[in-house]
Amino acid sequence: MKFFKLFTPFKIRNMTVSNRIVMPALNLNLANNGFVTQRLTDFYVERAKGGAGMLIVGGCYIDLYAKGVPMMISIENDEYVPKLTEFAEAIHKAREDVKVVCQLYHSGAYTFPQIIGKAPIAPSAVYSNFSKTTPREMTIEDIETEQKAFADAAIRAKKAGFDAVELCANAGYLFSQFSSPKTNKRTDEYGGSLENRLRFAIETFELMRSRLGDFPIGYRISGDDFVPESNTYKEKAIIAEYLGKHLDYINVTGGWHETKTPQTTMDVPEGCYTYLAENVRNRVSIPVFASNRINNPELAEQVLMSRKADAICMGRALVADPYLPLKAKKGDLRDIMNCIGCNQGCFDAIFKMVPISCLRNARAGNESKTEIKPLKEKKKVMVVGAGPGGLEAARVAAMRGHEVHIFEKDDKIGGLLNLIYIPPGRNEFKRMIDNYQYWIQKHGIQLHLDEEVTLDTVKGFNPDAIFIATGSKPTKPPISGIERDNVYWANDVFSGDAPIGENNVIIGGGATGIELALYIAKYGSLSLEAFDFLTNYKALEPEIALEMLHGRRNKVMVLEQLPKLGSALGKTTKWVLLDKCDKLGVKFHTGVRVKEIGENFVSFIDTKDNEQIINDVDVVYYATGVEPNKSLFREIKQLGNIKVETIGDARKPETVLEAIHRAYKLANNI
Ligand code: SF4
Repeated sequence: MKFFKLFTPFKIRNMTVSNRIVMPALNLNLANNGFVTQRLTDFYVERAKGGAGMLIVGGCYIDLYAKGVPMMISIENDEYVPKLTEFAEAIHKAREDVKVVCQLYHSGAYTFPQIIGKAPIAPSAVYSNFSKTTPREMTIEDIETEQKAFADAAIRAKKAGFDAVELCANAGYLFSQFSSPKTNKRTDEYGGSLENRLRFAIETFELMRSRLGDFPIGYRISGDDFVPESNTYKEKAIIAEYLGKHLDYINVTGGWHETKTPQTTMDVPEGCYTYLAENVRNRVSIPVFASNRINNPELAEQVLMSRKADAICMGRALVADPYLPLKAKKGDLRDIMNCIGCNQGCFDAIFKMVPISCLRNARAGNESKTEIKPLKEKKKVMVVGAGPGGLEAARVAAMRGHEVHIFEKDDKIGGLLNLIYIPPGRNEFKRMIDNYQYWIQKHGIQLHLDEEVTLDTVKGFNPDAIFIATGSKPTKPPISGIERDNVYWANDVFSGDAPIGENNVIIGGGATGIELALYIAKYGSLSLEAFDFLTNYKALEPEIALEMLHGRRNKVMVLEQLPKLGSALGKTTKWVLLDKCDKLGVKFHTGVRVKEIGENFVSFIDTKDNEQIINDVDVVYYATGVEPNKSLFREIKQLGNIKVETIGDARKPETVLEAIHRAYKLANNI
């Protein structure tokens, strides 16, 4: 594919950016007491080397009131400038023409009293659904203090060697709290009319401009707050037009943190929010960036070519593969390690207050300690099982120069990934299979499909090292009736080996149980293509077609033993899946024990120790965990003369992220 726009330079005020790939600010949880660390520097140096045009770093909190989470970067006083200077220098040294932007951040009502040790401040004392606290209303003196803090922080950024500053005004933070009628109830000159609600921002820009001179100032804005009573995308266009006269670029993203409209999860269609950037771009004459779920360069090019934006924010895409820009420029698109929007290592880490990592890229956030090690002695490596862990071990071992053979009992690679991508909204897991298929060819890995490995195979093959990635088998719960003909393992549905009933019961409300519930509830619904076709030709009234598209087809009841559902699901994904279940009428019982599966019924003991019976049940599924497939590992271990390791579920039930990270580490050390 040819890129006509993506790799062309563009200007922000007097600054030239070498291409249109921008890494937006992401909180990485890599700072230490507000100071930049080596790990943080390494992270951005790698992204600079990878070819992005502009790296926006932050949010950097401008004073204590501004601080959102404990491991953020601080720019609140001069003490932080020397490390920030070293940081900016290191990035510019890694690639001279990369532009490094400092994002200035203020949480307002979105911070927590536990973090700042006092009540947060905000335009008005309106309870925050995000921080679950009521902030103190800012006095005029507070307003002036915070405006000055922004200007002081911008001067520090300039002094430290950054190329521009960006104000973080999206996601429900301080600037958006001022512009929103939901959170700004002031009756003075900073509240009421839209003009008044934007006064805080305009005065801040003017103060910054008077002190910064020609230094570029950008603004990251929510293109629609997606929160009732707050600013819609129609108002955002007016706001952008009004503010744009004072700014050098506008960076448009999605809604507030508290929105009930998913913004970043895998089920958000790629590029779905680019209309928000276009909506702003139609009203301003400065560069506009588009964001959210633009994970591949082909889509980025399409957004640019269709004049929706002037540059593209690719945050998680560059976490997953810092070298995406260089690979795209070279035309090596299949080599890109695609972000799949799982959030497991990135956004979920932020909420757990741990440093960033990535399901795809075991190096993200730990760059200097995870470099591919040079080969000391070439070995013959056998990988048994072509699931995600086995494939990653093979990739890394082969990249280092080992002779690598993958043995897979199935007729295709992917293992569990082939089932994980089946439920609605999980399709991006398939990208991983496509990536590994390419790397098998690229790195000369020898693939042996349809080969079940036994101890004799191993003896005959005589490898120097073996990775056992043979996965797991389902744990059958000891329930009376579990052997009945209408009872199936959850994954049998995804592989097409189990029927779907009209009335279904799922035993187990973990990640698999919830995804199965969604799959079954919607099974047989109208497809998007059919919806489009039928409504376009007016063959079906839109309301009826919509009901067929979104409505529930089959009834599902989920029974979970634990008090909470989806214990292994990350925070950012769990609410989205449960909300979808709710919309589809899926019923849940938590804290219950299944007693019996009988002829067309399931009985269980509820939280009050009462027995309840679900009647007219067609099919029962169990999603109650898995246990490792270790038999081959034990046999090889007993031989005692071959180095053998287990990876993924073959060792213990673990997430895809854990399997990939362990595989990377082991393969980098043989
Ligand atoms: Fe993308 Fe998942 Fe990696 Fe986050 S953890 S960058 S969503 S692949």
